[in-house]
Amino acid sequence: MHQDPNCIFCKIVAGQIPSKKVFEDEDLLVFHDINPWAPVHVLVIPKRHIATHYDVAPEDSAVLGKMLALAPKLMRELGVVNGFRTLINTGEDGRQEVQHLHVHVMGGPRPWLRG
Ligand code: 5GP
Ligand code: ZN
Repeated sequence: MHQDPNCIFCKIVAGQIPSKKVFEDEDLLVFHDINPWAPVHVLVIPKRHIATHYDVAPEDSAVLGKMLALAPKLMRELGVVNGFRTLINTGEDGRQEVQHLHVHVMGGPRPWLRG
């Protein structure tokens, strides 16, 4: 599996940096954001290093589909039953800070810190 040794999320996948894991399978990892905007704020990532949404290849389509299909299931399991927000930041103008593709999934009662 393609990994980037300097990537913070690859280090989380490898267990070199601790995270509060919510879900894991052979393709995906989900963990709580360290700086949550909302009562529930998780990041859904592919285990394989894909730097940005621009870098998604046709063979990644199934994994991307899995990421979105998983979000509502996880939100329900985490008690988020009144709606949630799903967000992908891409590149500089998209204000992407971590260069490993991730989907933010945020929910829980308002008010939120941001978003
Ligand atoms: P971006 O701005 O790239 O879309 O979002 C990156 C997110 O990753 C931010 O919400 C930030 O709080 C989160 N983050 C950055 N470093 C870590 C970390 O080491 N652990 C966890 N759990 N989240 C992180
Ligand atoms: Zn990575």
